[in-house]
Amino acid sequence: MRKILLTLSLTLILASPAFAGLNVVATLPWIGSLAKEIGRDKITVTTLVKPSQDPHYVEAKPSMILAGRKADIIMYNGLDLEIGYLPLILESSKNPRIMPGKAGNFDSSKFVRVIDKHEHVERSMGDVHPLGNPHYNFSPTNIIRVAEGMSRSLSELDRSNADFYRANYSRFAARFDEKQKQWKGANLRGRKYIAYHNLFAYLAAENGFQIIAFMEPKPGIPPSAAHIEQLIEEIKRSKPDGILVTSDHGLKEAQSLGARTGVKVIVLPQDVGAMAGTEEWFAFMDKVMSSLR
Ligand SMILES: [Zn+2]
Repeated sequence: MRKILLTLSLTLILASPAFAGLNVVATLPWIGSLAKEIGRDKITVTTLVKPSQDPHYVEAKPSMILAGRKADIIMYNGLDLEIGYLPLILESSKNPRIMPGKAGNFDSSKFVRVIDKHEHVERSMGDVHPLGNPHYNFSPTNIIRVAEGMSRSLSELDRSNADFYRANYSRFAARFDEKQKQWKGANLRGRKYIAYHNLFAYLAAENGFQIIAFMEPKPGIPPSAAHIEQLIEEIKRSKPDGILVTSDHGLKEAQSLGARTGVKVIVLPQDVGAMAGTEEWFAFMDKVMSSLR
């Protein structure tokens, strides 16, 4: 009997983690970063996608399904950016807590004022995002709304720490207001850029600059030689202020176009952690804005 009890208690110790806080699964690095700001030591965060991975083409892995099985809440970008793996995680993890409609299913885009929605999409348009532009991790005015949404959702799941989450959000919001003043000082109004992929539409709208052309002839399609020739003509005509590209996708092509035209190539992180010194969302945005200055 004693031996059974010992075995039983040992099993319990091994099975129950020392940490009893909320288990948060975030798809993308910026989401994990925001969750940590709000949840701090009351949550553990597992982030599924690496900062260097192209978020459009992520495949589900068994480790993701395992993470989904243990999650109290799954937080994701939405607008179908995770269409290639999230439905599979939800289905295969068989975790009722994270199913759509449940408190543990957090679609960040529900808090976003979405731009570039398409009424009608067909194959010939390339990998267009039909529900609207999903790259709002570059959009401070939307990120602050997502952060508030996170504090509400965490509070709902863990009522005993609701004040804690609320206070962390207030601290986040105060820091955000300070940062916004600095970022707004960049004065990018009227500038014109070429971008590799349509990642910067929110940033352009919020800062009054324009993306006049894309290096991708269609979303998700790498530039052909003919498209590059067209871009060179466009560059001669409109003399853009720079070519915007991320450190992980299209950099070589952008550098080659920059070398041929003399237009400055501006390398931005695509997500939190994608470049040195961008390990949390504020640092990420600082890097984006200082690179554009
Ligand atoms: Zn995209």
